[in-house]
Amino acid sequence: MTDVTPTMPADHRELTSDLAGIVCDYPYVDPEDSLSSLAHDAMEVMERVDTPEGRRERAGYTVLLHATCWYVAARLFSRSVYTSYTKALEGFRATLDPASCTCPEGSHPKDEDPEYSVGVGVSLLTEAGRAEFVEDYGIDDGKLAVYDCEGFLADLADQAAAHIREAYEANFGDVDVSHLDAQYVLDGGGIDVVAMQEAIRRSYTNNQGPVGLWSARRWLSGQVRDEDRLGLFLTLWMCVNQAYAGLPPAYARDMAAAVDTVGLDVSCGHSRHPWSTAEKSVESRYRAVLHLYAPEDHPDTLVPADLASRDLWECPVQYAELARSAKKDLEGWREMRGGDEGDWEA
Ligand SMILES: [Zn+2]
Ligand SMILES: [Zn+2]
Repeated sequence: MTDVTPTMPADHRELTSDLAGIVCDYPYVDPEDSLSSLAHDAMEVMERVDTPEGRRERAGYTVLLHATCWYVAARLFSRSVYTSYTKALEGFRATLDPASCTCPEGSHPKDEDPEYSVGVGVSLLTEAGRAEFVEDYGIDDGKLAVYDCEGFLADLADQAAAHIREAYEANFGDVDVSHLDAQYVLDGGGIDVVAMQEAIRRSYTNNQGPVGLWSARRWLSGQVRDEDRLGLFLTLWMCVNQAYAGLPPAYARDMAAAVDTVGLDVSCGHSRHPWSTAEKSVESRYRAVLHLYAPEDHPDTLVPADLASRDLWECPVQYAELARSAKKDLEGWREMRGGDEGDWEA
């Protein structure tokens, strides 16, 4: 025996800091690439899971997939990452026997901080990492042994797989917003633009997704009276514009399809259009749209009288301007949240 603790491989040190940045929500590497390779590396362990190395790695990767799954669910809209996580987690789970757990009741680690779990997970991957971890944290080997317990790991794998499954459904599945018909369709078939505006006025209500999706589907269905088209499209545009963090494909697909129906190859003789004066802030947009649909209740608007005529509002060039800006935002979401083109298409 020597006093020298074997040291963790350098690429594992890098992995720890890359993943720590991701789980702290301050990634400085591409999270889609990093987490995708994490899941692929995990899948490869399946082939050697009957060796001591394989079992060490299985423990490490299970802890790492569990620690990072929240980020996949909340921040990444790339189907292939979900598929890889699911394969790796279900693959591990099939090799784990929870009945083999002999730990004292309540001794499995619970609700550990994800950044700490990243450190633990990477350390577990190698013997050297484990030795270093024991020394750095001054813990005894027994504390580390619990991370190899198959009951503990099976729980982690089940939790992470369930989280990924639910998020997949929420981010890529078919979201039903038909309950909003009762809120936004008036007797006689008109659309209650004012009620829709109230719903998205405060960003913390997070209504941009459901209201935007409902607007898009209504627009695509063609069940829109001429006088409601403008209000519906402006509301859709506002939902896109105000979803700063980007909405998942489950919402974005139909919103993009609705925006795509607007002709871009148009021209007019107007020097300006009304929205250009109203689009400065969420509040001024809200007032402008309410003024259009309920002028008696909402006399204030930033849109000057000489720009307020309905034909200026309805000008195809203004629709095209709105559509172009919405497309830009939608493309920005794709860039920010990852995924292939196909993940975002209807
Ligand atoms: Zn146990
Ligand atoms: Zn015009």
